[in-house]
Amino acid sequence: MSEYKDATQAIRAGIQQTNEQENSEAIFMTSSFAYASAEEAAAMFGGEIEGNVYSRFTNPTVSLFEKRLATLEKGEAAIATSSGMAALMTLAYTLLKSGDRVVCSRNIFGSSIKFFDGYTTKFGVEVVYVDATDYAGWEAMIDDNTRLCYFETPSNPLYEVVDVQRVADLCHAKNALLCVDTVLATPALQNPLTQGADIVMQSATKFIDGQGRCLGGALISSQALVDEFTGFMRSAGPAMSPFNAWVLVNGLETLSLRMKAHSASAMTLATWLEAHPKVTKVNYAGLESHKYHELAKRQQKDFGGLLSFVVEGGRKSAWTVINGTKLMSITGNLGDTKTLVTHPASTTHGRLSDEQKAAAGIAEGLVRISVGLEDIDDIINDLKTGLDKL
Ligand SMILES: *Cc1c(COP(=O)(O)O)cnc(C)c1O
Repeated sequence: MSEYKDATQAIRAGIQQTNEQENSEAIFMTSSFAYASAEEAAAMFGGEIEGNVYSRFTNPTVSLFEKRLATLEKGEAAIATSSGMAALMTLAYTLLKSGDRVVCSRNIFGSSIKFFDGYTTKFGVEVVYVDATDYAGWEAMIDDNTRLCYFETPSNPLYEVVDVQRVADLCHAKNALLCVDTVLATPALQNPLTQGADIVMQSATKFIDGQGRCLGGALISSQALVDEFTGFMRSAGPAMSPFNAWVLVNGLETLSLRMKAHSASAMTLATWLEAHPKVTKVNYAGLESHKYHELAKRQQKDFGGLLSFVVEGGRKSAWTVINGTKLMSITGNLGDTKTLVTHPASTTHGRLSDEQKAAAGIAEGLVRISVGLEDIDDIINDLKTGLDKL
């Protein structure tokens, strides 16, 4: 399939017809697989012949999703997990041991910080944080014990953009691995594996599904590392459901078209917000005024569907704006056809302490919008109704 371009791969890569010769992807809703003989079962379990044994190990629908995603991410292989957080768990438990250090960006998903701090440290792993765009900070923190470095680009909800190659070079100088969470960009807009990263982490729950229907996650990397992750998966079991894999395979088919439309609407909304008198700051790298505009342009094909902005008056004002909207859904998710509005300080980042929030730049007046695919005029009018209440 490698002779085809991305848009074709998104629709064709990995498909294997069954004997029924169906044209659409089949769904294999089965926990185990049956064999013609005891001999065949023994050989399959022993790994002497290739095939499916049990859906915690492999499943044809899940394998199709993995192949297609790996192709789009420009990786050798991928492993699918039950959620994005399950992908992070698989990464950490497979690679880390007591005494290892993780150097992690401060500006990552709230649950990722909770996972690193609350659960990996229990096993003697040291986790230290840096500002994601402080390259001297990365260099100072990556020591001889560092096994893994981790950041998000672009970051949620502040849209910080990290130079992937620059951090990758610092990691590789110390033999550490770099994993990049690029959930906001998706493989349609950025491929960190071609920019020096060793592993990409995806929450397929977001734009890859794209319609807010199911959870899923993945790690995309070299075949050797994915084989290690697969070993953990067989023993620990955070496997993706075949049904979710089937939904997500279909999501991949329209991902690039959807990301173009999300990006175009987000750009229009960000431009409108920037001119609004009640808005003090807009975080969207598509804006030329944004600190990371040039870097984002160089690393990404487009700027994506997520933006945030700050209103004066802290939490009270932010809640007034949110409660004043009628069309958008008030929810913590992102990456949906529906426009979603969130107050990060009291929801997605609500479990962080005040110091952690301050360090991560989560202001009380911050409002996050995941710009959907409704008509952009209706989205702007809805937000205008909210902002008019201030
Ligand atoms: C949602 C999200 C995750 C976690 O993924 P789940 O599928 O919800 O477990 C991780 N990173 C980012 C940037 C996310 O938006």
